[in-house]
Amino acid sequence: MAKEPLDFQRLRQRMVKEQIEARGIKDRRVLEAMLKVERHKFVPLSLQPFAYQDSPLPIGEGQTISQPYIVALMTELLELKGTEKVLEIGTGSGYQAAILAELAKEVYTIEILPGLAKRSSQLLAELGYLNVKVKCADGYLGWPELAPFDAIIVTCAAKEVPPPLIEQLAEGARLVIPVGTDYQELKLFIKREGELEERTIIPVIFVPMRRK
Ligand code: SAH
Repeated sequence: MAKEPLDFQRLRQRMVKEQIEARGIKDRRVLEAMLKVERHKFVPLSLQPFAYQDSPLPIGEGQTISQPYIVALMTELLELKGTEKVLEIGTGSGYQAAILAELAKEVYTIEILPGLAKRSSQLLAELGYLNVKVKCADGYLGWPELAPFDAIIVTCAAKEVPPPLIEQLAEGARLVIPVGTDYQELKLFIKREGELEERTIIPVIFVPMRRK
């Protein structure tokens, strides 16, 4: 494989320092993962020069890769230590899945659009992520055969928290999800003794969760 041009590495270092650390992300493991994963490989070729900008970018089929800070924030909220089985809803480009794969033991990710599911699955395999599995399905239903999960992250906005996802949380597990339609809020739920603890984090803008 050709050596990565140095300026992508430098752009990534700047992204982490100026967009992510500067806004208060502290988890060393999250910062390391954001430094390591080559975000430009997850965007269309023509957009690679903008891959480390402080914004979401289009990835085709009307979908977007989230802003780097939002990826870092959502990941930090999961408090991953390296032993977890994680479920992601909304694979999109596969970038968030790659970040999770750096930080958890196993990652299962569901994408509803076949084109994106195929592309991200191929890319993640090419990049050597053996601990990620992509499935094309409606993520509203979760992945019951593999439940329970230690963490669930949803990267499309749901009108309400899908009940199957709550059921599929292990005791002590965390769910990070944007909730709402026109106005959306990023929420963190923690399952404790069967009860859900809820925290509202910040207002966000995500593409809507669709149903098959
Ligand atoms: N995590 C992605 C962000 C993708 S944007 C990344 O890092 O690039 C949200 C994605 O959710 C889109 O690809 C969209 O097709 C997908 N999506 C929407 N509704 C869904 C559903 N019900 N189940 C699974 N994926 C869904």
